[in-house]
Amino acid sequence: MMAAVLEGPGEISLQEVDDPACPPGGLVLEVEACSICSTDVKMVRQGQRDLVCPRILGHEVSGVVAERDGAGPRVGERVQIYPGVSCAKCPSCRRGAENLCGKVRILGFSLDGGFAERLAVPAESVRDGGVFPIPEPATFEEAALAEPLACSINAQDRVGVSEGDSVIIFGAGPAGVLHAILAQERGASMVAIAEPLEERARIAKGWADQVLRPGREDLQDGAMEATDGRGFDVAILASRDRPVDGSLLALLAPRGRISLFSGLPPSFERPRLDLNLLHYREHLIAGAYGCTRAENGEALELITSRGVDVRGLFTMRIPLRKISAGLDHAERRRGLKAVLTESGR
Ligand SMILES: [Zn+2]
Ligand SMILES: [Zn+2]
Repeated sequence: MMAAVLEGPGEISLQEVDDPACPPGGLVLEVEACSICSTDVKMVRQGQRDLVCPRILGHEVSGVVAERDGAGPRVGERVQIYPGVSCAKCPSCRRGAENLCGKVRILGFSLDGGFAERLAVPAESVRDGGVFPIPEPATFEEAALAEPLACSINAQDRVGVSEGDSVIIFGAGPAGVLHAILAQERGASMVAIAEPLEERARIAKGWADQVLRPGREDLQDGAMEATDGRGFDVAILASRDRPVDGSLLALLAPRGRISLFSGLPPSFERPRLDLNLLHYREHLIAGAYGCTRAENGEALELITSRGVDVRGLFTMRIPLRKISAGLDHAERRRGLKAVLTESGR
């Protein structure tokens, strides 16, 4: 079969490789859609903590069951795959936080993923409910976005985004836009996106109540104007260029919460913060990494019911053989989501 194989940072190429064998108790998926994530770009360009090379990347994947061994979905069924394969025994796994399992393996990171014609899904994924049948009318490409949407659900759960919250999202990439749609679905009273790039700020206008332009306008003035002088209840960092500092805290209302959704570059890892501001104003800063199976299921339901309508997110549909164009699309930060799909549906 054809696959895009990453040998090491900067070395990705299309290769003819052996078809994956069906794992005992697992299944083989015929990939119909695999969307490209900014983490894929990061892995290709510089590597990533959980990446093990050589590797077929791709963790936002859906398709048709081509082979199976044992129980689980039948051959021919349309499914979307939760990419995490966890131990099911450790304290994190037992409390439903399997994204934090110390032994977690991830399709597209430490196991082969969906930038290929076929994908082996291990027995644990089938056993633990990581293979999700795709209900009608969701298409393969919509279903592929269940994973990134689930990551947004995880982050918004950590900071309790709910009815009446005002929310500011940093970054109008695909993740930022998914956060905006999700926050609206949760009943946010107002959703703002802060985006310095011209092209993405223009895109953001279609998805948020307000778009703020850091660098062009005083963000604090804009934030206070947008929230009647209260500040935002929640700030979500869906961009690597936003440090956590006093000027970020100054945008928050009392009890304002910050979600560290994006991994930060080394220069932002050690902020200098007046922690007394957190003390007196009861702020909360919460991390978020990946998602759980339950969140994946919730995301697929939201997509299927169109409570979260992701159909407008795709700005590039390309076949696997044009993957480098898709990676460029994600890296140049002009459009939103690129998806590898032969049919587009
Ligand atoms: Zn991703
Ligand atoms: Zn575990």
